Amino acid sequence: MIIRNARVVTLDADNRVLDDADVVIGDDGAIERVGEGLGAGGQGLGSLTPNPQPLTPASDVIDAGGRLLMPALINCHTHLYSTLARGISLPGRPPRNFPEILKKLWWRLDRALNPDDVYYSALVGLVDAAKNGVGTLVDHHSSPNAIAGSLDLIERAFREVGLRGVLCYETSDRDGPAKAREAIAENARFLDRVGAGRGGRGAGGGTIAASFGLHASFTLSDRTLRAAVEALRGAGPEAGFHIHVAEDRSDLEHARRRWGKTVVRRLRDLGVLGDRALAAHCVHVTAGDVASLAKLGVKVAHNPQSNSNNAVGVARLLELLAAGVLVGLGSDGYTPRMWEEFKTAFHLQKVRTGDPRVGYAEAYAVALLNNREIVRRLWGFDVGRVAPGARADLMLVDYHPPTPLGPDNLFGHLLFGIADAPLDTLIVDGRVVVRDHRCVTVDERAVAERARRQAKALWARF
Ligand SMILES: [Zn+2]
Repeated sequence: MIIRNARVVTLDADNRVLDDADVVIGDDGAIERVGEGLGAGGQGLGSLTPNPQPLTPASDVIDAGGRLLMPALINCHTHLYSTLARGISLPGRPPRNFPEILKKLWWRLDRALNPDDVYYSALVGLVDAAKNGVGTLVDHHSSPNAIAGSLDLIERAFREVGLRGVLCYETSDRDGPAKAREAIAENARFLDRVGAGRGGRGAGGGTIAASFGLHASFTLSDRTLRAAVEALRGAGPEAGFHIHVAEDRSDLEHARRRWGKTVVRRLRDLGVLGDRALAAHCVHVTAGDVASLAKLGVKVAHNPQSNSNNAVGVARLLELLAAGVLVGLGSDGYTPRMWEEFKTAFHLQKVRTGDPRVGYAEAYAVALLNNREIVRRLWGFDVGRVAPGARADLMLVDYHPPTPLGPDNLFGHLLFGIADAPLDTLIVDGRVVVRDHRCVTVDERAVAERARRQAKALWARF
């Protein structure tokens, strides 16, 4: 496939902006070449083959029409099962704090999910993600009354829409030891089947990988965490945990009360945290915790809009990054639009510090550089850059810069222009998922209609 006539933001080591370039994508889904004049009339391809006759068929040429081409976005922490909650109303008085939000909304919703809900919430959520330029999602799933096989249903949705995914099941003791054991078994089974990534080993086939899901310190006993650590060990050295860490102050207070230590210290002591682990949130961490996270090589997913919505606080992004922690960006299921998370991450650090100079490098790093680095280091997916050898996870946006655009002023264009520009095309692993603003892999109207029926029945059981 050739994409012609694009303004390319490479985000590679050279960090270039090419004003009129072509991108050649191989049949294996990797980017072959990036440059000027590669696809002009097919002639530029003569150098790739001794016989210039077999030109790329017209169906495999995308004329970008001068649109902006850049790497597809990555969501480093989300919950696709929450998709069918959009517009739901909660009976009784509104939840007053984070534990009440969990009890009154999320833990009631996930207990009501049946296998069809799991599949359709993922399917409709992935269509939404695709239409917002997100090529890779790191999902954290929970459906306590439909645990076994739930990750296969989500995997099916990923494959049908054509997005890249990392899946896990949320182990917790909140529904008793039998459910916790079932959750551990689901993680171990799925890890065994698709593998933990590392460049596509296992049945994941290069676009699906697994992690091991844990809910949070305050819903997990020592006994269950030890069993999970044991099960993870059986899954091989590449597997790691994906867990919520110190999202709300109540998690930290619970750990201090119960074990006399912080959440990070407790999880570290039990062997949960290491350089294969992904910790979501880390809002209520001490300076000592930050040093521990850095030393252990734990990856962190920052979720600024969800944290704002739940009123749990603002993560100390500047301190985490300065300590050397690799912090990426997630949505926590709050929105499919990662550009909104990017903007909120930027704004919140200014508000938190009262310093208008901060936030630029941090928001850029978490959204574009660190997310891809986390996905590469933990699961082996080489995405997030437009360069030969990288996977072809790319998006074309309707953005024609009204002022000069170069690598040195990219941030301003991202914040004030590209983030709000409509997505025209999304390509994941060399396959077109969205074209002309429409999802082409599934019938998006039919999917939304089916999801609505599913949601109506789910809400009646809620
Ligand atoms: Zn979460």
